[in-house]
Formats: sequence, structure tokens, C-alpha cells
Amino acid sequence: MVFCSNCFHNLEIKSIIDERGLLGICPVCGTKDVKIYDTEQDSTLLGMFDNLLSVYTAEDDLPSNYPHSECRTLVEAIKNEWDIFSDISDEDILNILKSLSPTILEDYPIVFEKLVGIPEKYDKDYLLKNSILHAEKWDDFVESIKHKNRFHTDLIDKKLLRKYCIDISKKIPISKQRFYRGRVAKNEDGFPPSEMGAPPKEYASNGRANSDGISRLYLTNDRETTLHEIRAAEYDYVSIGTFKQLKELTVVDLKQIHKISPFGVDVDCTALAINREHLLKINQEMSRPMRRGDSPLDYLPTQYICDFIMSIKNEDGTPMFDGIEYQSAMHSRGSNLAIFNPENFKCTYSRTYEVKKLHYTKELIGRHKS
Ligand SMILES: [Zn+2]
Repeated sequence: MVFCSNCFHNLEIKSIIDERGLLGICPVCGTKDVKIYDTEQDSTLLGMFDNLLSVYTAEDDLPSNYPHSECRTLVEAIKNEWDIFSDISDEDILNILKSLSPTILEDYPIVFEKLVGIPEKYDKDYLLKNSILHAEKWDDFVESIKHKNRFHTDLIDKKLLRKYCIDISKKIPISKQRFYRGRVAKNEDGFPPSEMGAPPKEYASNGRANSDGISRLYLTNDRETTLHEIRAAEYDYVSIGTFKQLKELTVVDLKQIHKISPFGVDVDCTALAINREHLLKINQEMSRPMRRGDSPLDYLPTQYICDFIMSIKNEDGTPMFDGIEYQSAMHSRGSNLAIFNPENFKCTYSRTYEVKKLHYTKELIGRHKS
């Protein structure tokens, strides 16, 4: 079978094809002048998916307690759980998987034909040892931290969470890149740079990444996202501070969760498939907008995770991470940074704007009859 590096998102596979392939037109995605890989000519990628595909068991062989509703085709499962393929058809994905996995095609062909599942997902003993949340669900953790044990929950496997945090960490070197924070101002005078930083600890109120009394600096990657994040209203005056970073930072980038590659050395694909779900949930919860009717208890789960990430140390005892980066739910192109130590940034200038127009969209979520 012939395909190209553009058929993939996964960087490891792309780089193998780019290094070895010959230029041509891809019969799968139609890209011209691209590095082509021919399974008849090159065996480098053969068996590459064996470890990953062995995570999946055909429905007939799954334990009887496995819910049918969670079974999917192999292609659906791969597309849903891993960011490997680009936007090519399900049929092409299936054919590529078969062509690169001759051993599995011979030994266990039904995995390509039947619905599949991950048996360990419902194996209590396995989950106790290998899941960030032990054998529990996210909602059990939320219930426990809100109403049972706030400071010493044993529902999070800290060793595992630490490992995944390291997997998705990244460095932010000092560069020309600037970050932003917005504040709604009382009048058109706005706020000077000296008043654009994180609030003093006496005034720090609950946020997704900080508890009452703990001051953390929330920044965005562009001004537009800032306006969305502070939910500025029409005719509000808004000051937006521009921040320069003062040292190289290491952050846990929750947006990278779906990028963790199943092809790395020593990657436990089963554990990763199971924990990905929990990690995605953390990203989703971090970016969930705060609502007026929220109880401060609603922020406890992410506050706990953020405090834990802040507590992770290097071998020499220094903190490993300076903050957390996560998706903005308010602005799809934006991302947010919650910085543990506000001193790592300096507000260099601020500008004040008047919000001229807002665009509201709505979605029906319920109705009542008289
Ligand atoms: Zn292609």
C-alpha cells in the first residue's frame, strides 16, 4: 500500500516517512510533491502499530461485564483515542493499519472486523494499579474532595499523575512572545501596569487554579482571548496589560494530552488509553467557564490538581513546574496560563479599551410548559 507523510499527524511516523520516502503524489490524500511510503518497498513501519493494536480486544472476547455501548470499530477507537492520522477516510485508515500490521492481521483478524474494547477499563485490579483515579471515575473524585476528604484524598495516584505531567510538560523560553491579562475598569482612566498583576493575596478569590487567599497570575496568549476570559460586557472599559516573561518557564501543557505518542519507547499504551480520558477531563474542567451560580466547592477538584502540580519537585528539590497551560473554553483559538509565581512576569504597559459590540449566540437547553 502507498501513502504519504501528510496522511499522518503523528510526528514519529511523519519523520520516518520524510526521511526515507521518495517524492510523489499520494493516492490516499491526494497531496502532490510529498514523501511517499510504499509498504512493498520499505519495511521500517511494519509492526509499528502492533503494540498499540494489542490494547484492543474484539467484542466476542471481552469480559461479560464490558458495556456494549462502549465498543467501537477499531478505526473509531484509534481516531477517538489517538491523534495519529490526518483527515483521511475510515477505509483508508483501516487499510493502512492492516498493511502495517501483517502479524495481527494473521493472528487476530477479527480485531479489524468486529467492534473492540479495552478489557482493562473494567478490571478493578488493573485500574487500582494503573489509573490516575485508581478504580474510580472523575465524578467520584469530585464528590470525595467536596464532601469527604479535602486535603488528603487517596483517590488520585500522585505518582502516575506526576509521570503524565512530565510527559506533557514544555519549556517556554524567553522570547518576543507577550502574554495578556485583562481587568474591567471603573472608568476610561483604566489601570496602570502596576495594577495589572495578580491580585494581592488578601483579595485573591477562588479560581479554577487557585483557592481563596492564594494569588496566581492568569494570562492569555492574545488580547482577544483576554476579553472573552474576563467576559467583558458591552460598554465596559477594559484594561489589558501586556506581560513580559522574566525567565524560562516549564509548564504542564494540558492541551498536549492528545499528542502523547503511543510509539515512544516504553509507552504503556493500555494505561495511556485509560488515563488519557482522565487527563482530558482535567483540561476540560480547567477551561470550564466560571458561572455566577457556582459554589466555591465546584473549583476544589482543579484547585487540588493545580496545587499538586505546583508541589512536584526536581531531584534537587526545586519546583519542576512554573504553571499550567490549558485551552480557553471562551475563545477556541486561545490558550490560558495559570502561573504559580506571579513574579516571573512583568507588566510592561497597559491599554484601556471600551467594548463596543458583543455577539451573543444561544443554544436551547430546555423548555417549560404552562
Ligand atoms: Zn497522503
